[in-house]
Amino acid sequence: MKIHEYQAKEIFAKYGVPIPSGRVAMTPDEAATVAQEIGGTVVVKAQVHVGGRGKAGGIKLAKTPEEARDAAAQILGMDIKGLIVQEVLVEQAADIKEEYYIGITTDRAARRNIVMVSAAGGIDIEEVAVEAPEKIAKLHLDPALGLQDFHIRGLAYAAKLPAAATKGIGPFLKALYKVYVDYDCSLAEINPLVLTGDGKLIAADAKINIDDNALFRHKELAQFQEAQEEDPIEAEAHKRGLTYVRLEGDIGIIGNGAGLVMTTLDVVQREGGRPANFLDIGGGAKAEVVTKAIDTVLLDKNVKGIFFNIFGGITRGDEVAKGMLEAIGTMNINVPIVVRLTGTRAKEGLALLEGSSLTPAATMQEGAQKIVALVNKD
Ligand code: GDP
Ligand code: MN
Repeated sequence: MKIHEYQAKEIFAKYGVPIPSGRVAMTPDEAATVAQEIGGTVVVKAQVHVGGRGKAGGIKLAKTPEEARDAAAQILGMDIKGLIVQEVLVEQAADIKEEYYIGITTDRAARRNIVMVSAAGGIDIEEVAVEAPEKIAKLHLDPALGLQDFHIRGLAYAAKLPAAATKGIGPFLKALYKVYVDYDCSLAEINPLVLTGDGKLIAADAKINIDDNALFRHKELAQFQEAQEEDPIEAEAHKRGLTYVRLEGDIGIIGNGAGLVMTTLDVVQREGGRPANFLDIGGGAKAEVVTKAIDTVLLDKNVKGIFFNIFGGITRGDEVAKGMLEAIGTMNINVPIVVRLTGTRAKEGLALLEGSSLTPAATMQEGAQKIVALVNKD
């Protein structure tokens, strides 16, 4: 889950990170009021779940409340990479002398969290990463050791930070690491971390992504979840308790077990088809779950056929077959369905399906070929 800059800043502030004073506004008038309260030059910032807002015109400086009102009027409603701006953060403008980058993410290949520090922060850090990766100091963290003072000194030295920044960066990195761990983040970064004209460090931007699988541990973040972010069919599927991910093709895929479903996606793709979704109905799937799964897959109007791939272990083939028959009996389904059943009680299951409108397949490959042929028939 992504959260907005102002929400991330609230979290960082709780961890003692200095942030510019400011507040979120939903109308130009409100933005002017906030600018009035703050006094002096403010920065008006689009709050959308995407980076590169600066380059997209979503960040503007305003010297007076009137300018803040105009800036907000321009930014609110703006489309930034497909997201419509509904809120702006109005905050005291930082007197920027230099911009640094600090961030933590998970390096899956290394099976470690990685801390990154760069003196070349600001809007082009992605380019720096590609064109001058040596400008980003990196360190993999041992989870038992965490982030120690000597790590911090080493990073600041490797990143060639000036003395003023080296002196002050410790608390920022420690807070970043603590937030990363406490909130089960997949990414936490401050870019830019600003060195001001009077030699102080301040977090001018903040970004936090939280691992969705850990959200149950962070009920307090539920208020930050936004409908706009989630695909409507995915949202509905999650409400129904299904593990569903929407894709861009036209063949609905339903299977039991995440590994089997992922393999099915690959095999269908290899046979020339385009999967419309990932849907894992889990073990011991009963008729009700099968019906729910089919109904969910068909919410996607691109779906022209469904491939059921069931490997019977705990899940019994005859149970799934009964579920399918019940589903096609009670639902009005007008797309072809190919079924591959194997494992526990597969023979009994296939016998039950005989004479129905479902197309049986003996193997995953055969099933994939059959559904691709059926979907591409017309
Ligand atoms: P992003 O482009 O979405 O990452 O948004 P940021 O919040 O990082 O802002 C992008 C750039 O706008 C920064 O790197 C700064 O150069 C500039 N900027 C942001 N806030 C301020 C501010 O308070 N004062 C000044 N002068 N520039 C700012
Ligand atoms: Mn930024």
